Amino acid sequence: MAHRVVIVGAGQAGVETAVALRSKGFNDPIVIIGDEDCAPYQRPPLSKEFLKTATDSDDLVLRPGAYFDRNNIELRCGRKVTAIDRDRQRVALDDGGTLDYQHLVLATGTRNRQLQVTGADLRGLHYLRTLDEAHALTARLPACGSVVVIGAGFIGLEVAAAARMHGAQVTVVEAAGRPMGRALSAPMSDYFAELHRSQGVRLMFNTGVYEIAEKAGAAATVVTDTGERIDAEVIVVGIGVIPNTELAAAAGLAVDNGIVVDTQLRTVDPHISAIGDCASFPVPDSAGLVRLESVQNAVDHARCVAARLTGQACDYDKVPWFWTEQFGAKLQMAGLVTGHDRTVVRGDPAHGSFSVFCFHGDTLLGVESVNAARDHMAARKLLAAGCRISPDDASDSTVDLKGLSTH
Ligand code: FAD
Repeated sequence: MAHRVVIVGAGQAGVETAVALRSKGFNDPIVIIGDEDCAPYQRPPLSKEFLKTATDSDDLVLRPGAYFDRNNIELRCGRKVTAIDRDRQRVALDDGGTLDYQHLVLATGTRNRQLQVTGADLRGLHYLRTLDEAHALTARLPACGSVVVIGAGFIGLEVAAAARMHGAQVTVVEAAGRPMGRALSAPMSDYFAELHRSQGVRLMFNTGVYEIAEKAGAAATVVTDTGERIDAEVIVVGIGVIPNTELAAAAGLAVDNGIVVDTQLRTVDPHISAIGDCASFPVPDSAGLVRLESVQNAVDHARCVAARLTGQACDYDKVPWFWTEQFGAKLQMAGLVTGHDRTVVRGDPAHGSFSVFCFHGDTLLGVESVNAARDHMAARKLLAAGCRISPDDASDSTVDLKGLSTH
């Protein structure tokens, strides 16, 4: 009997699962079902090149359409999976159809967290996760005089940088005390805050949004919890995402800030895996589960599941890495810095090329590099190999990091 793999979600993780299965010689049927009504695309450029220049959206596709035909991968776009019948190993679709699977991969990603204040439902409030949302924003940004961004996370700050480069007055309102604070060390947050200020972005930290006020029925003013009213031609909300776990939860699979999987990315049902932004998974040497939102995580998860389905099962142990780009500063992160209690700096922030090494005690947890690709690559190798490096050596630019990872 053919071993059909059904993949729910045609994003980075879903498409890469199909690609990896075929490249590993899997010859049975593969069906990808995605509820967005367009060819699968990359999201990272949506808040970078796409906002700055009028990039053709064809350049964003994950694979050209012919790839799916050539590799006999059935791609059903604009179609939603509405339920999973685990007993029958069958999914239900929103057109009333059903599809049997021998293995089901949940790659359902995340959706925007919605702002919950008066006026949040007004016309003209922008979010940025999908291609449609990016089109709506690019239609407004180049000719707009003022922008307020709510949320100083990665996407909010990338939007702020793009808006500033188009010449708009930009204000960023953030409830926390520093930018990108959930993911970055304080020294790196401070560097990016200073970078934005130096480019003319107004940053308001420890400031909440009280309401969005309207003009002619459209969102026009952000009212902060300190009572300040900031008018804007464009208001963009970037306050994080919520994992799409409802399908899994309704099927009785465990959910804990994501679909819970084991070290091989299997749910409690051995016929169902969950990967990418929607999956909560165990990380080696750390208690609890993590859920990551990055291309690397989506792609490496997909490859891990494809390896298992083709008889090469192994635990998922990849070093996480991520990047962002703002005002020409390319930040690359390796590892997870949560829980660090010491940082040392290598290189010179004043020259715009440096790295922050984050330690817990003597253990290196992660490295954040700005315009320092060599440090970043060496850090990934050090972390993958579990090599020890002292804070003194890390901060000493004469110590060869690459050499340390080969010892
Ligand atoms: P997604 O890309 O969210 O794909 C999931 C798909 O499943 C979606 O199309 C969803 O609509 C669909 N779906 C959900 N439920 C169903 C259902 N029931 N039936 C059918 N389809 C369904 N990462 C980086 O590493 N670096 C960056 O610089 C970076 N920049 C980013 C910029 C932006 C603007 C955004 C939005 C993200 C960025 N990311 C970046 C994050 C990265 O894009 C994500 O981590 C990655 O796309 C996750 O892939 P995924 O396949 O897990 O989820």
